[in-house]
Amino acid sequence: MERESSLFTQIIQRQRPADILYQDEQVTAFRDIAPAAPVHVLIVPNRLIKTLNDLQSSDTGLVGHMVLVATDLARQQGIADDGYRLIINCNQHGGQVVPHLHLHLVGGHPLGPLLNHPD
Ligand code: AMP
Repeated sequence: MERESSLFTQIIQRQRPADILYQDEQVTAFRDIAPAAPVHVLIVPNRLIKTLNDLQSSDTGLVGHMVLVATDLARQQGIADDGYRLIINCNQHGGQVVPHLHLHLVGGHPLGPLLNHPD
């Protein structure tokens, strides 16, 4: 049976172009194609995990690694001292569009309030 794939799997496997900033055996980080801020990078596990709901206790190290890669990238991008935001959207109400877990690193200017409330 064919292994499940995703848009981000194609980027991770270099089958689809992306501006990859970092990759190791666990995660890949690349610039968001439609940046919401001057710096907008996605940190993605190489293994397909669809949502936060699919994480297991054995993924504790992976999730910690994703956060530490994000903080390293924030330093590399020069936004660590001014500050930034890390976001993981989950499913429909959380605004998740791509069903492959990803951590957004956004910054480079003041980001304003945490949430936009729909009317
Ligand atoms: P989310 O709404 O949390 O699922 O975020 C998905 C993100 O993936 C959005 O910010 C998109 O702009 C971004 N995105 C979609 N396609 C690509 C792509 N081919 N390369 C880089 N980022 C992408």
